[in-house]
Amino acid sequence: MAYTYDPTNIFACILRGEIPNKTVLESTHTLAFHDIHPQAPVHVLVIPKGPYVTFDHFAAEASVEEIMDFHRTAASVCTMLGIAPGDGYRGITNAGGNGLQEVPHYHLHILGGRPLGRLVERA
Ligand code: AMP
Repeated sequence: MAYTYDPTNIFACILRGEIPNKTVLESTHTLAFHDIHPQAPVHVLVIPKGPYVTFDHFAAEASVEEIMDFHRTAASVCTMLGIAPGDGYRGITNAGGNGLQEVPHYHLHILGGRPLGRLVERA
């Protein structure tokens, strides 16, 4: 099934400069900014600038340069915010209905600054 990207999603609006964000770090292909409803003392979203819906879409269709830039930027965010090396963090990406993805533009949540509990609730 082909991926369909919705250019009206809120992160696309942020990338176009139509709404503000609290930028942590920006690179050629990637933007990292603070989540508007933080779930931990550190809660940053890392997004590619390209139109990718999910992790699997990004991994399948992004260029090597975009993929490298994304991961290097995410790692730099962890270093800048003192969670790696440090007390640790969690990287989460939600996809689709079962993943409860709210914004259909690929994003990596980076959470830290407190113990984060179990990865998922037991069914
Ligand atoms: P997800 O459920 O994985 O799609 O997560 C979407 C995340 O985007 C949530 O944690 C929201 O709090 C966050 N979010 C939504 N709108 C904004 C915004 N304008 N600026 C920063 N974070 C946002």
